Amino acid sequence: MSARPEASNAPCAECQGEGVRFVAREGRAVAVACVCTQACPKCGGAGRLYQQDARGYTQLAGCDCGADPRRLAILSGLRIPVKFMGAKTSTYQPKNSEQAKAQARAVRFIEEFMPNASGGRGILFLGQPGTGKTHLLLSILRELALQKGVRGRYEEFSLLLSDIKDGFSKGLSTREWLEPLRQVDVLAIDEVGKGTSRNVEFEQGVLDEIISVRYNAGRPTLLASNYPRAGSLWKFPEVGVPETLEHRVGPRIYSRLHELCDFVEVTGEDHRKQQHEERERAPQARRGLPPGSARTARLGGK
Ligand SMILES: [Zn+2]
Ligand SMILES: [Zn+2]
Repeated sequence: MSARPEASNAPCAECQGEGVRFVAREGRAVAVACVCTQACPKCGGAGRLYQQDARGYTQLAGCDCGADPRRLAILSGLRIPVKFMGAKTSTYQPKNSEQAKAQARAVRFIEEFMPNASGGRGILFLGQPGTGKTHLLLSILRELALQKGVRGRYEEFSLLLSDIKDGFSKGLSTREWLEPLRQVDVLAIDEVGKGTSRNVEFEQGVLDEIISVRYNAGRPTLLASNYPRAGSLWKFPEVGVPETLEHRVGPRIYSRLHELCDFVEVTGEDHRKQQHEERERAPQARRGLPPGSARTARLGGK
C-alpha cells in the first residue's frame, strides 16, 4: 500500500490534463501554458523539443504537454469570447435527444476532421437563442486546435459586419478583409441572419463572398443561426414577425448552405430561462411542494 497512490498520474486539476488554460486579457481569451507543464519530463516547460523524423533528421517540434508556443498562438487566435473560455464538447449539457444528437455531431466533426484534406462538409446549427449553439461551435474550434493543431476563427456575424464596414471606411479592400477568413482551416460564423434589415443587400453580399471563398479554398465553414427552416415548429423572433433563415439570407445563399453544410437542429427551451426557473423552483422542492404550487400556496389556496 502506498501513501500517495498514482498522485502523479492524476490529471492536473487546473487544466484537466490539457496543459493549457484560457485567461482573460483586455477582454480577449488568451491561451497560456498551465503551470503543470513546467514539470514536463520531455521539454521542461519550454514546449519545444528536438525529435528525430523518419529519415533520421533532427527537427524542432512542439511538445504535446500543452506548452508548445505555436499551439498556444493557434488557441489564442480562435478569438473565443471570454464568456465561453471554458466551453468544451464534454461540458455541453444536452436537455433533450435533439441536443444530444447535436453534441454527438460536434464530436464526430472533430474526430473526422483531417488537417490538410480538402472539401470537408460544414455544419449549420439551427435553434432558438440559449440552446448552446455557440458553445458547440467554440468547442469544435477549441478541440480541433488542441488535438490536431487546426487553425480556426470565431466570428459573430453582426460584429463581423461592423468590422468590415470599419475596414471599408479606412480604405480596406474586399480582398483584404476576406483573406484572413479564407485562410483559416475552419471558420465559425455565429448568429447568421442577424443584421439590421436596413442593409440586407450588404449583409447578404458579405455572407455570399465568405461562403464562396471558403468553398473555393476547399475549407469547411461552421455556422449557427437563431432563424428556423420553413416548416420548423419553433419561431424566431418570438415577439414580432417571425422570419425563416431563407428569408434572412435569400434563396440563393440558403440553397448554397444546403450544398455545403449538414443542417443540425439544436432546439429546446432557452437554458438561461430554464436555469432561472430552476432557481425559482428550488425553494418549493425543498419544502416538498410540486412545481407550480408556490403561487397557490402564497394565495392561501389548498
Ligand atoms: Zn495543468
Ligand atoms: Zn512538454
